[in-house]
Amino acid sequence: MIKKNIKKLCSKFGAKYGSSLRIRYMKIEKICKKTYKCIFCNKLAIIKVSTGLWKCKKCHQQMTGGAYGFHAFEIQ
Ligand SMILES: [Zn+2]
Repeated sequence: MIKKNIKKLCSKFGAKYGSSLRIRYMKIEKICKKTYKCIFCNKLAIIKVSTGLWKCKKCHQQMTGGAYGFHAFEIQ
C-alpha cells in the first residue's frame, strides 16, 4: 500500500534523487498545495503565493504564514 502511493506521487522525478528525498518532497508539496480557511471571510480559499506569503482568493487579503504550510508547525 505504501509502495503504491509513493510510486504514484513521486513519478514526476522518475528514478532520480533517491527514495527518501522524493518522499520528503512529496510531503512538503502536499502541504504547499493545500487550501486553508481564511481568517477574514471564513472560506477555504487561502493559497500560497510565494515563500511565507499567502493570499485569499475570495477577499484578496494577503497574509504571512509558514514557508511551506500556512501554519509554521505543520512540517516537523
Ligand atoms: Zn478571505
